[in-house]
Amino acid sequence: MEEEQIVIVGAGPAGCAAAAQCARLGVRPLLLDSSGEAGGLVANAFLVENYPGLEKPLTGEVLVGRLAEHLARFDVTITAKTVSRVEPDPDGWIVHADGQDIRARCVILATGTVHRSLSIPDERDLISRVLFYEVRDLLATIPSPKKVIVVGGGEASFDYSLSLVNAGASVSILVRSDRVRVRGRLGEMVAGHPEISVKLNTRLVALKEVDGGVAATVISEDCETLRLADALLAAVGRKSSASLIVSSPDPLSLTHAPGLFICGDARSDGLGQVGIAVGDGLAAAALAVQRATRENVK
Ligand SMILES: Cc1cc2nc3c(=O)[nH]c(=O)nc-3n(C[C@H](O)[C@H](O)[C@H](O)COP(=O)(O)OP(=O)(O)OC[C@H]3O[C@@H](n4cnc5c(N)ncnc54)[C@H](O)[C@@H]3O)c2cc1C
Repeated sequence: MEEEQIVIVGAGPAGCAAAAQCARLGVRPLLLDSSGEAGGLVANAFLVENYPGLEKPLTGEVLVGRLAEHLARFDVTITAKTVSRVEPDPDGWIVHADGQDIRARCVILATGTVHRSLSIPDERDLISRVLFYEVRDLLATIPSPKKVIVVGGGEASFDYSLSLVNAGASVSILVRSDRVRVRGRLGEMVAGHPEISVKLNTRLVALKEVDGGVAATVISEDCETLRLADALLAAVGRKSSASLIVSSPDPLSLTHAPGLFICGDARSDGLGQVGIAVGDGLAAAALAVQRATRENVK
């Protein structure tokens, strides 16, 4: 069985920060990511302006490039593997990754979140064709959409809408409740935008692929209507993906169990911010290096 001192799962902001810090402290980690690339969810961000130390706001795509450069500077590479389980072992932890078992003194789980599903009929057949859960996937499949329906009343749906109008689309945001959950600058950038409309109290009930796009059945004020668009992008919430990898009755925390650290958005109380993910990654790296390099630690 392969033996490692530290395995890091996920190369988003938390995993990249942790990996570079481990290397900097003298322990080269094994960094695994299912995509094989650095970046994670922030690749979708229209503009990141709240991460301290930037000379100016950056698009998510540019920030992802910076994360890759950061890893390269510390000579850390990413191995493309998907981790299905992490289980305790007398000497640490066993990481199950694409049929391979890796024993590690410490594991840092930085796997971020998975999207919540719309739960509509035939969803599986529509995904990645006309139904998307991340704007980068939508734009990779349909680079110049003319009309997109976005579902969700939170920050992600507003941020995605700005990326879509930037790509030339007009956007209709459908919000199930009677208010949106967006504050400050993001709300201001969307409010009054000529290419973005927000429809409150509007519920998606069905979605069908039609020639060249989607037909969405929506109910608003007891009235059912059909809306046509090139694609539908759903931003109806996300949940920790670490809960799929570790069985635990307890909340998933930074110092979850001896030698197992859970960072960034993957924590039960993850706050969905790059700066917090990076801070968690640095903290986990410091604690993991300390533990992995101590003799006879159980
Ligand atoms: C539209 C949008 C805009 C945003 N804008 C901002 C912003 O302006 N400012 C801000 O601070 N934050 C922003 N965020 C939030 C930010 O993107 C996240 O908080 C941040 O990416 C979390 O980092 P992370 O490393 O914890 O997880 P992630 O970035 O989600 O990275 C997780 C990584 O783990 C990998 N992975 C997952 N499961 C496995 C597995 N089983 N095996 C191997 N690899 C796996 C994934 O491929 C991924 O690369 C935005 C998010 C969105 C969606």
